[in-house]
Amino acid sequence: MTIRVAFLIVILAAACFVVSSPAQTRKLKIYISADMEGIVGVVTGDQLGPQGFEYNRFREFMTEEVKAAVEAAFEAGATEIVVSDSHGNGENLLIEKLPKNVTIVRSWPRPLMMMEGIDETFDGAIFIGYHTSTTNMSGVRAHTISSARLADVRLNGTSMAEAGINAAIAGHFNVPVIMISGDDAIVKEATNLLGNIEGAVVKWAVSFHSAKTMTPEAAYSLIREKTRKAIARIKEFRPYKVNQPVQLDVRFKAYRPSEMLSYLSIVRRTDSHSILFVGKDIIEVSKFLEFITNYEPSLEP
Ligand SMILES: [Zn+2]
Repeated sequence: MTIRVAFLIVILAAACFVVSSPAQTRKLKIYISADMEGIVGVVTGDQLGPQGFEYNRFREFMTEEVKAAVEAAFEAGATEIVVSDSHGNGENLLIEKLPKNVTIVRSWPRPLMMMEGIDETFDGAIFIGYHTSTTNMSGVRAHTISSARLADVRLNGTSMAEAGINAAIAGHFNVPVIMISGDDAIVKEATNLLGNIEGAVVKWAVSFHSAKTMTPEAAYSLIREKTRKAIARIKEFRPYKVNQPVQLDVRFKAYRPSEMLSYLSIVRRTDSHSILFVGKDIIEVSKFLEFITNYEPSLEP
C-alpha cells in the first residue's frame, strides 16, 4: 500500500464516520397510547368489548391503526417505540401483528394508567383511537376514564379528556404530544388544549352512538400521513405542563364513592357526588385516579 492509498483510506474512513455517526447515535423514541372508542367505524359497545358481536373485527382495525402509526414513525426516523394497549381490559391489540422492534404494555392496574411505560427518554407521544371527555357535548362515546362511574375529572379546575390527563403525564417527563387520532370532536378538544398538534380525523361524530366514518383503509393512510408530518415537526411541539401541586376534582355518577372516600384524610368531599385530592405532581394524581377507579376489597389474587 502506497502512502497515497493509505492516506486516501484514512480520509474515506473519516468521511464515512462523519456521515454515518449522527444517524447511528441519534435516538428517537416514540410512545403510542391506544384507546378504542376513536378507532375507525367504532360507534357503540358492539365494537368495544369481548361481549360485542363486532369486537374481534374491530380489534383488528385498532391493531392496524396502531401498526400504521408504528410503521410511519419508523419510516420517519423513530428508533424505538412503546405501545400501551389502553382500552377496556388492556388486551385488545393483536400483538403478533406488530413489528418485532416494538414493545407493548398490557392489562391493569398501572400507576401511569394509559401512559404506563413513558419516561424522560421519549421524544414524542401519539394518541390513537381517542375520544372526548365526559363533559364534552359531542363525540362518540364521550367519557373520561370510566363511562359508568365518572361524571367529571378536573385538573386544577379544568375538565379534562383522557388526552389532557395523559398529555400532562407525558409533560411531566418533558415529552410533547405530537399527534392524535379519533373523531372530529376529540381532535378539536385536544388541539384546543394542546395547540397545533397533528390530528387524524377518521370519523365525524353524529351523536354519542353514531358517526359518519371513513373506511379502515382510508383511516390507515391518514394515520400514516399525520404520523409522518408530526415526526417531521417534532421540534415544534412543547410538553403540556400542569401547575404543581395538582388539584384533582372528581365527580362520581353514584353517591357512595364520594361518601366513603371522604373517610380518608387525604380526600375532601366537596359536594354529594364529588371529591378533591391534591397531589404533589401529576404522577401522584395518576396513581390516585387508578386507585379510586380500580380498587375493591374483593381483589384477588
Ligand atoms: Zn378511553
